[in-house]
Amino acid sequence: MSTEGVIYRVAGPVVTATGISPKMYDVVHVGNEGLMGEVIKIVGDYSIIQVYEDTSGVKPGEPVTNTGLPLVAELGPGLLTSVYDGIQRPLPVLRDKMGDYIFRGVSAPGLDREKKWEFNPTVKKGDEVEAGQVIGTVMEGSMLHKIMVPPTFKKGKVDSISSGKYAVEDVIATVDGQDICMMQKWPVRVARPVTEKYQPDIPLVTGLRVLDTMFPLAKGGAAAIPGAFGTGKTVTQQSLAKYSNAEIVVYIGCGERGNEMTEVLTEFPELVDPSTGESLMNRTVLIANTSNMPVAAREASVYTGITIAEYFRDMGYDVSLMADSTSRWAEAMREISSRLEEMPGEEGYPAYLAGRLSEFYERACRAKALSGDIGSISVIGAVSPPGGDLSEPVTQNTLRIVRVFWALDTKLRERRHFPTINWLTSYTMYDKQLSGWYKQNVADDFPELKAWAMQVLQKESELQEIVQMVGSDSLPDEQKMTLEVAKMIREIYLQQNAYHPVDAYCPISRQYVMMTLIKKYSDLASNALASGIQVDKIAYLPVRQRFNQAKYEENVDSELEAVAKDMDEQFAGLGA
Ligand code: ADP
Ligand code: MG
Repeated sequence: MSTEGVIYRVAGPVVTATGISPKMYDVVHVGNEGLMGEVIKIVGDYSIIQVYEDTSGVKPGEPVTNTGLPLVAELGPGLLTSVYDGIQRPLPVLRDKMGDYIFRGVSAPGLDREKKWEFNPTVKKGDEVEAGQVIGTVMEGSMLHKIMVPPTFKKGKVDSISSGKYAVEDVIATVDGQDICMMQKWPVRVARPVTEKYQPDIPLVTGLRVLDTMFPLAKGGAAAIPGAFGTGKTVTQQSLAKYSNAEIVVYIGCGERGNEMTEVLTEFPELVDPSTGESLMNRTVLIANTSNMPVAAREASVYTGITIAEYFRDMGYDVSLMADSTSRWAEAMREISSRLEEMPGEEGYPAYLAGRLSEFYERACRAKALSGDIGSISVIGAVSPPGGDLSEPVTQNTLRIVRVFWALDTKLRERRHFPTINWLTSYTMYDKQLSGWYKQNVADDFPELKAWAMQVLQKESELQEIVQMVGSDSLPDEQKMTLEVAKMIREIYLQQNAYHPVDAYCPISRQYVMMTLIKKYSDLASNALASGIQVDKIAYLPVRQRFNQAKYEENVDSELEAVAKDMDEQFAGLGA
């Protein structure tokens, strides 16, 4: 079989070659500069290749070489703190080699080949080891990086293994005569195997009240955040990266505007990990698609990211993967598909859009890894529908797959209600599965309280329609009170400033206390109304103001206790 061929035709990122007889998804080197590409279609002797690098100037007749290997991610110590392009080339290395502009024909390995890591074996000579098993550890900053037997390995007895300083390609052990090094490679388009998948029944706790209380995502689940430009997708994704209780963060940025990725590249490394005070990058892998990078690399970036996430899941970690925004990924598919002159589906997206989206989101899971450890990948995909129109194909196809929908709302943004997550249209399908956890870990009545709050908000929206027609004066007192309580839920509970030093993160125990207090106010108010006290008097109690401010106070928890006391006293003072 021949591995050398020539270019027949060049159409932007898509190159047709003859003479290489590849398999689907083989990686090839294209043209005199050896640009990296991947075979995405084979028609007779013609191989159609998507090229990850800029193809301008590449001409028919130039050589093409097939490596015979699929696109792989390099997995091992050195991943954390890395900033990669879509095919796992480290951006800082590319910059050194090429300057800021085009990264063409440059190969730079995903993992540093020189750097030495202190390896500590956890098995010894003569032990039997299996695929996926942990055989040692490396400290990568403050994270314990588990070194695992590659998933494709057959089981065998350890001939030799020893501690010491090793680079990722050095042999750290031999098993039945086969060498094992710390780095393993894995084809990005294939999910890494696990022993058993679990029903997601533990929440990914985010510290965002509207998410944790109203629309929780389970660890191992997938959520979509659709929202028009400027509604808060990126701010929300970064809050989740910072505060959610996942140990590892994989962040795939697909820049929308020219400078947006530059912002991520400068801002992200500055984010501080609230749990350690160190840089968040110490437990993060960042994949950045800047707008000047070719679309094919963007198409691949999502797979590179999720493969890295799976690798950390296999060590037993909870991983959260953010993709911002998946619409840019879908557009990359659309552009490549149109170059292939495929029959377009809805709005020009390829017919396989839905399939690709679900293949990606389905790699989210909570599972027992081959190592025996339990880990998870929670996937949070931002979607940027043009004009905020949720009926477009990327949003619609995503919503068919994910079980959590956080709808960002332009109207809420105009009212400066942040996060702009609409409480009437958002949903979670994990409610039932997670209620056990909430009962056990927060409070028995947490699910009930949440249901109560949602009902009040529903009621408010119904009443608002009446108010718009006839004004609020005509409402009976009880309904006026419902509007007051709903306002408290919105302003005190749902609104949360991502930039406020105290309020940016709200522990779930405090969420419970806050909701209990709103309910307490509501109950006291009902009693007061029943004993003939007027709505206005109740609504203007000074405790309302104190309650509004409490979440911003340094001593928020004792402040909330004081609010409870004030409430009792002030309602008693009304003479109810
Ligand atoms: P998108 O990614 O959807 O285009 P961004 O995440 O960049 O939007 O948010 C746009 C702006 O909205 C931010 O710069 C910020 O001023 C404001 N914003 C969004 N979410 C919040 C929040 N939770 N708290 C405070 N401000 C927010
Ligand atoms: Mg954004």
